[in-house]
Amino acid sequence: MNRIIPIETKVKVMQESLCLSDVEALAACYGVSVGVIYYWFNQKVKPALGEILKNDAPGPKPHSDPKAEIVQAIAERPASCEQCGGGHIWKNGSYWVINWVWLLTIGWLVGMKKALIQRWRCADCGYELVSLERQRQAEARQAWWQQVKRLVGLSRFRLGLSVRRTQILVAFVYSRQVSVGYIQRLTQGIGRRAQAVLERLSTCRQKVACFLLYDETFPKLGRRFYSLGVVICEYGLIRSVRTIRRKAKDIPAQLRQVVGAYYHPEYFLTDLEITYSEYLARAGLCLQHLRDIVHLMRQIGRMFDDAVREVTLDVPKRLPQPDRQRQRHLKQRLLRKRLRPILRTAFKAFAPGYESVCLLMLEGVAVQLRDPQLILQTESVQRLARRMQRFVKKHGPAINVLLEMSAQAGTPKTTNSLESKNALFKPFSKIAKSFRLATAEHFFAGVALMENFDVKSRGLHQGTSAMQRAAIDLDDLGSTDFFSAVGLNMPQISPTTFTL
Ligand SMILES: [Zn+2]
Repeated sequence: MNRIIPIETKVKVMQESLCLSDVEALAACYGVSVGVIYYWFNQKVKPALGEILKNDAPGPKPHSDPKAEIVQAIAERPASCEQCGGGHIWKNGSYWVINWVWLLTIGWLVGMKKALIQRWRCADCGYELVSLERQRQAEARQAWWQQVKRLVGLSRFRLGLSVRRTQILVAFVYSRQVSVGYIQRLTQGIGRRAQAVLERLSTCRQKVACFLLYDETFPKLGRRFYSLGVVICEYGLIRSVRTIRRKAKDIPAQLRQVVGAYYHPEYFLTDLEITYSEYLARAGLCLQHLRDIVHLMRQIGRMFDDAVREVTLDVPKRLPQPDRQRQRHLKQRLLRKRLRPILRTAFKAFAPGYESVCLLMLEGVAVQLRDPQLILQTESVQRLARRMQRFVKKHGPAINVLLEMSAQAGTPKTTNSLESKNALFKPFSKIAKSFRLATAEHFFAGVALMENFDVKSRGLHQGTSAMQRAAIDLDDLGSTDFFSAVGLNMPQISPTTFTL
């Protein structure tokens, strides 16, 4: 007979057959209270009856604990205690950890796995022995974090990825998430160290650099208004990056800081911003102030444009407005045509090969402008001639030095190399927007340091980095690349760790 008896029936039957007879006598015999026997029966036995009486599912019993088997497999009992030399080593439990060795090596393929660590303890002195597995996992763990830190550094300071995107990248490559806060703190830490490295540049032995190129860039930094002051030398090495909020104080401080034992430039090359020479003086530096020729040429072009724009009419006042306008346009066109060859001469003066005669040509331009045979001496032309004369007087000597140096020593005539560095910071400003002032400065310092070590794969400086061109002594600096400079060396790992 294979009748299926419902579980309710079974429970009822058992409850009635387990009637509590002679409870008092049993309690007295065993020295327990009557109450506790009723408690056991009502609270423990009765509720458990259903569970006990139900039929087990058919089929083999589930497999025994897989952990136990692995423990057996990895349990190589150490021969003796390292502390007291005793030979009695006992197992002292086991625990699971992330399998860092796997995560480090093939984590991208297998995802996160666990590894079991057997704890061993000396029976004589109680010392806990470090198993080989524990050692391997600890080493791999350290290496994994180190490599993740390096990846975060690359992502933030080279690729310019946001915190969230960095997080995605790390999870993709190393199959484990790191937190937003961790990436932010790490970024700040790296930036701070990068700033310290930039500050050390002038104390390292290096090739003599004569130029200090200075410019400010205005990355889009949200509502907070500040600029970024950048110093490079003629080798294109970024020597300083500072957030500038109060120009009159911050710029002199930056200039003073960047000059040091092995970097004392002679020339200060900037655009035409007039306050720079004052800041230079305030920094206590005696450098000859030179101006970027692109800006100088632009300035000349502007003066000529002004002359055309400021053309005045000497026609009777009663002439109707449209006619006056037409007359004026005509006159402007005429003047522009007259001025064109003269302007061309002025620009030609800056062309390569004309370095020695540049100033003479500019003076010639001023003279031509005053020649009534050549050009009608209207009011705006006379003003242009005066401005040109002043320009030559003001910038002439500096232009001579700049062009002579550039012809002889190949030093820069423009701040173009600096402006290209500024362009480098632009994409990063989106990230820096949310930073506080000091943090933003550190962040840009990190970007600058990365750029300094970057070996160019194309262009004018192909195959070299700015550090190499400026011949910075890397022993003095104490690091050979960006990562070692900010304390993120390649992880070191012993060969035994790699056996999976
Ligand atoms: Zn021991």
